[in-house]
Amino acid sequence: MTYHLNADLHCHSVVSDGTLSPEALAARAKANGVELWALTDHDEIGGQQRALAAARAEGLKYLTGTEISVSFAGHTVHIVGLGFDADNADLQRGLAQTRGGRGERAMEMSDGLAKVGIKGAYEGALKFVGNPELISRTHFARFLVESGVCRDTNEVFRKFLTEGKPGFVPHRWASLRDAVGWITGAGGMAVIAHPARYGFTPNEEYALFTEFKAHGGRGVEVVTGSHSAQEAVTYAGVAQEFGLAASRGSDFHSPDESRIDLGTLPLLNETLTPVWELLADRIQ
Ligand code: AMP
Ligand code: MN
Ligand code: MN
Ligand code: MN
Repeated sequence: MTYHLNADLHCHSVVSDGTLSPEALAARAKANGVELWALTDHDEIGGQQRALAAARAEGLKYLTGTEISVSFAGHTVHIVGLGFDADNADLQRGLAQTRGGRGERAMEMSDGLAKVGIKGAYEGALKFVGNPELISRTHFARFLVESGVCRDTNEVFRKFLTEGKPGFVPHRWASLRDAVGWITGAGGMAVIAHPARYGFTPNEEYALFTEFKAHGGRGVEVVTGSHSAQEAVTYAGVAQEFGLAASRGSDFHSPDESRIDLGTLPLLNETLTPVWELLADRIQ
């Protein structure tokens, strides 16, 4: 068993809403003792070649990664994909389609913010964007911090960017079936990201896990920067209940914003099956 591996299988670069390059992330992962790494940019695999090359240069083992935005039961759910073939055309098309609505959504977010007196948010957010196809709420949050409207990005989300708030625009992302299908069709493993974050009722959560498994999903994040120690215990139990492999990842975005750094989370519990054991032949 390799439950004790320092694997970090969830983080973001400038190719989505992180602030570091794939190369800087690889160096930081190495410095923090990570042994197996995956870069999981939102709805995007444009950074995978650079991440793999950087991982090789640093002597890190690597799994391809992404984090797909999904709409399920009226909520946004994130599905991490690991160990897929990044050249797979269906996966690439699906991700491009998922990214497609972000520009228009961002302009509507900006209109909503203008109505409460915050002008120029679209242009302001764009200054923080590394990938023009991937403007996200995080980039708006950075602009509102820079312009002094809020002290930190958490406050921006709480006051402006979550459901019911002026900068929130409901959005239709990929379906659960499609997201899991694109990942598994490309030879990878689909993993439910940070399940404690969704605020589902027990019935909704049961439906998510059941449908996810029915579509071919095989893993769940147990130890993540988005879970408390108690939530990690809860989802270790859920992983076992549903027969899912367990993943571990910081969800690191930025040295200035992220509470948990790459490679610094507690290890997986030895009773769990780590996702990397099922992906051994996909590790590069
Ligand atoms: P989007 O895909 O544009 O809806 O943006 C989602 C991203 O916003 C997530 O991946 C996080 O990086 C960030 N995010 C969501 N909620 C919060 C929060 N409460 N505080 C800080 N960042 C958040
Ligand atoms: Mn993010
Ligand atoms: Mn996420
Ligand atoms: Mn993430």
